[in-house]
Amino acid sequence: MSKTLFERIISREIPADIVFENEELLAFRDINPQAPVHVLLVPKRVVARVDEAQRSDRELLGNLLLAAAQVARQLGLAENGYRLVINNGADGGETVPHLHCHILGGRPLGWPPG
Ligand code: 5GP
Repeated sequence: MSKTLFERIISREIPADIVFENEELLAFRDINPQAPVHVLLVPKRVVARVDEAQRSDRELLGNLLLAAAQVARQLGLAENGYRLVINNGADGGETVPHLHCHILGGRPLGWPPG
């Protein structure tokens, strides 16, 4: 199988502005930011999307959310708030088939999204 775009970022084949890394996760700034702070947090092990996650992925999924909160704090978003988004499938707006959590903040975000 060919590598996903995010695997190429994880392996440093494609440069990115990395803001956080540990042994199972990487966070980097989105190339097309939708807010003053827009970071993508991705597992290094590929799970295509939430819909394909298995029970065996539950620790990874939990760690993803905990790390998202940690990265948001690190980037100064905790006080005013922020949004976490996981797009799933075509109608969900998922364009890269490698699970990722968007961390968006730095301005008030409307609800519902368009
Ligand atoms: P999705 O639409 O799949 O939820 O999110 C994919 C995100 O990846 C988009 O917000 C898009 O701007 C971002 N993206 C696409 N290509 C690149 C890239 O080469 N580098 C970075 N840093 N982000 C990218």
